[in-house]
Amino acid sequence: MFRDVIQFKGLDVGKGLRLIKGNSGEWVRLLGSRDKSELSLEGTHLLVAGGRTPNTSGIGLDQAGVETTERGHIRVNEHLQTTAEGVWAEGDCAGSPYFTHVSQDDFRVVIDSIAGRSRVTTGRQVPFCLEVSSPNLFPPPIPSWRSRTPP
Ligand SMILES: Cc1cc2nc3c(=O)[nH]c(=O)nc-3n(C[C@H](O)[C@H](O)[C@H](O)COP(=O)(O)OP(=O)(O)OC[C@H]3O[C@@H](n4cnc5c(N)ncnc54)[C@H](O)[C@@H]3O)c2cc1C
Repeated sequence: MFRDVIQFKGLDVGKGLRLIKGNSGEWVRLLGSRDKSELSLEGTHLLVAGGRTPNTSGIGLDQAGVETTERGHIRVNEHLQTTAEGVWAEGDCAGSPYFTHVSQDDFRVVIDSIAGRSRVTTGRQVPFCLEVSSPNLFPPPIPSWRSRTPP
């Protein structure tokens, strides 16, 4: 769908490009190859879609008894409890959908779990959207103590 939207705006979508070199300044210039032929691109902006992987290796999780999944996320249950007693994980590293509002809700789940209440991550509604405004139009509510102007 995103591809349709931006093609409607007259933009080209390039996949499978192998980058050889690039320059930026007033213009972005890329030299690469696609399907074994050389390709040169020029424009005002460069939009890169990259993947993300959890940064959980090499920090001793195994020594703490905290297991990870095949994809590197910390293994948690619906209360975000890890495999080590008294240890919770939340947000991206715990494999929750990669959104700010989800990591914020994960916080509520963890707090409730610590307090012995029963909030869970399963069955919650997760809005999936692409935010294209800067700053975000709908930031999470700021607690009143943070929104006050400093003296
Ligand atoms: C480019 C980009 C754009 C995004 N746009 C949106 C958007 O428009 N809307 C949206 O909802 N979400 C967006 N997200 C996703 C959102 O930012 C994340 O889902 C959210 O920040 C996850 O929160 P978190 O607390 O799990 O992790 P993070 O916000 O990544 O916080 C993890 C923290 O842990 C620290 N840390 C990591 N390793 C260690 C260590 N070994 N020791 C100590 N500290 C450590 C990091 O420095 C970081 O401060 C975007 C993400 C990216 C990368």
